[in-house]
Amino acid sequence: MSTGSPVGSHRVVSPAGVLPQAADRLDATPDIEDDEVRVRVERLNLDAASFRQLSTAHGGDGAAIRETVRGIIAERGKMHNPATGSGGMLIGTVEAVGPRSPLGLRPGQKIATLVSLTLTPLRIDDDLAHWDGLTEQIPTTGTAILFARSIAAVLPDDLPEPVALAVFDVCGAPALVRRVVARRTHATSTVAVLGAAGKSGSLSLAAARDAHAATVLGIVRDEAEADRLERSGLADHTAVADATDPLGLAETVIAALDGRGADVTVVCVDVPGCEHGAILSTASHGTVVFFSMATSFPAAALGAEGLAADVEMLIGNGYVPGHADYALGLMRDNPGLKDLFADRTEVTA
Ligand code: NAP
Repeated sequence: MSTGSPVGSHRVVSPAGVLPQAADRLDATPDIEDDEVRVRVERLNLDAASFRQLSTAHGGDGAAIRETVRGIIAERGKMHNPATGSGGMLIGTVEAVGPRSPLGLRPGQKIATLVSLTLTPLRIDDDLAHWDGLTEQIPTTGTAILFARSIAAVLPDDLPEPVALAVFDVCGAPALVRRVVARRTHATSTVAVLGAAGKSGSLSLAAARDAHAATVLGIVRDEAEADRLERSGLADHTAVADATDPLGLAETVIAALDGRGADVTVVCVDVPGCEHGAILSTASHGTVVFFSMATSFPAAALGAEGLAADVEMLIGNGYVPGHADYALGLMRDNPGLKDLFADRTEVTA
């Protein structure tokens, strides 16, 4: 047994010299180096942008979606959707721990990986035969590898596994929202969340409240989502708008916030084309958090310049220290969140 690179570069097959996230192909051999951990995979969670793209590309044909995902994993040694560049995460049981692994994991522990599937060496043993191709979560079996610098969380015993997996997938969003809202100096910050009835969106609403935002606005796509969000009690105001319609969205946000843009706008929608609306909906000197994987850097950067918008724009880094525990705490403190997640993961609340 030898020691691998802590960032996993020894697992890169091609192209040479890149880190695993940028690689076309990884070596997913289940044998571990002495600082790696092998996980027996039980469930994958495709990220929302990736699943939506696959679903749209195959017209909702589950068998075709399953075959595409199976093919990506077999070819790339990881679940890295080439169209969206995004992945997701997984849960499983720790199967083997190298003697020099610094992760503090023990064989038999049930964990969720908190690093993206786009950089996690993955081998599937069942051809995804138990998945109908129609849901973001994939029951499966296989092996995944964690490097010395990966992160993982032991699954909580008070949440159903599919819910915990969905929470961990997006747990970077609430932690970043809390940080951004809490650092604002004036006491009347307004926060608008786009895609507010979704997973990262609803957690972001709860985080904004937790960070003492004065007003929290949830933007959803239709009346059905508006009803669900209103029942959750997570937002002070709920409004319906298409986040890809810049003028309509900005008009809705500004009307809901008494004639002013939001101090913080959080983009949690899983479709492309929300950059300009988010920028127009944000007050001067405000902040836009782009958590969505469907965000385009040129559209955001050139859009803000073209609108002469003096806004700070943040890419939603999926990692913030303490993010998993913080998101679990929000789930425990907000019954409305549990209901929304149960709906999304088809678990009885
Ligand atoms: P989700 O649960 O599917 O929520 C997305 C929400 O956006 C849904 O409620 C959806 O409504 C709504 N929506 C879709 N199109 C809309 C439109 N045109 N106008 C207004 N609302 C619209 O997704 P999620 O899991 O929270 O993920 C959200 C985004 O974060 C995805 O792009 C995902 O890939 C990304 N993500 C980022 C990171 C990171 O580290 N930055 C990590 C994980 C995920 P319907 O359900 O009615 O379609």
